[in-house]
Amino acid sequence: MTLTSKTAVVTGSTSGIGLAIARALAKEGANIVLNGLGDEAEIEKTRAGIESEFGVKAVYSPANMLKSDEIEEMVRLGERTFGSVDILVNNAGIQFVSPVEEFPVEKWDQIIAINLTSAFHAIRAAVPGMKARKWGRIINTASAHSLVASPFKSAYVAAKHGIAGLTKTVALEVATHGITVNCISPGYVWTPLVERQIPDTMKARGLTKEQVINDVLLEAQPTKQFVTVDQVAALAVFLCSDAASQMSGANLSMDGGWTAK
Ligand code: NAD
Repeated sequence: MTLTSKTAVVTGSTSGIGLAIARALAKEGANIVLNGLGDEAEIEKTRAGIESEFGVKAVYSPANMLKSDEIEEMVRLGERTFGSVDILVNNAGIQFVSPVEEFPVEKWDQIIAINLTSAFHAIRAAVPGMKARKWGRIINTASAHSLVASPFKSAYVAAKHGIAGLTKTVALEVATHGITVNCISPGYVWTPLVERQIPDTMKARGLTKEQVINDVLLEAQPTKQFVTVDQVAALAVFLCSDAASQMSGANLSMDGGWTAK
């Protein structure tokens, strides 16, 4: 138990990678602010499950990552409920796959807002408290697409390159305050986000489901295996540890070798 008495806000933690990170931080003793969309009863089950399984406290913030005031209130909820927000994981994200000339303008705006701008709003709300306590960990879920591109993902790749830049900038600004800022860049992780993009990729590239999985997704990954959510969560836990206190501004790949190519 390395994170007892710490509080972690994890955006987009009702599903996939964010949920695995929230559970892994809770396992280390951190209280959790869950966030994300989904069925109310399911979310309550998840929240209560974290409390009973790990013996920590968990609250749910319904903040929509499209709205700056709700994002700020999510951070305040953590501070009001637990006295501090020590760990901020900016993880919420969506994807949309389309040729650039047909890319719906509202989808572009949504992806930039959820995948990039929401992290700015959460960071600016959380940093003053972290500075006051002289300790903080900010972890952004970026992507292999923060380092390289794939066709038909213009908004996602732009947002993820943006979050890598935001990570480096804030890391420099808070370096002397005991706060580290890093991003994790997974390759393909088997989550609902990946599953949902298969039909659109089939359409955009004229392929079958099996061809998309093997020839598009896993084609990128030399290991030919998906990353697991628990592997990403283990790296997030490590970044919160004292052993990682001199790691900041890093973009950490976990992509089966994808970006080595
Ligand atoms: P997911 O769809 O399982 O989870 C996304 C989470 O974001 C959910 O909890 C969802 O409710 C939440 N969310 C979406 N829109 C929101 C909004 N407007 N307000 C609040 N919450 C919102 O997807 P995932 O694969 O777990 O993705 C999590 C992060 O990991 C994303 O930033 C994604 O870009 C990144 N990522 C995923 C992969 C992958 O292969 N799955 C690879 C690299 C990076």
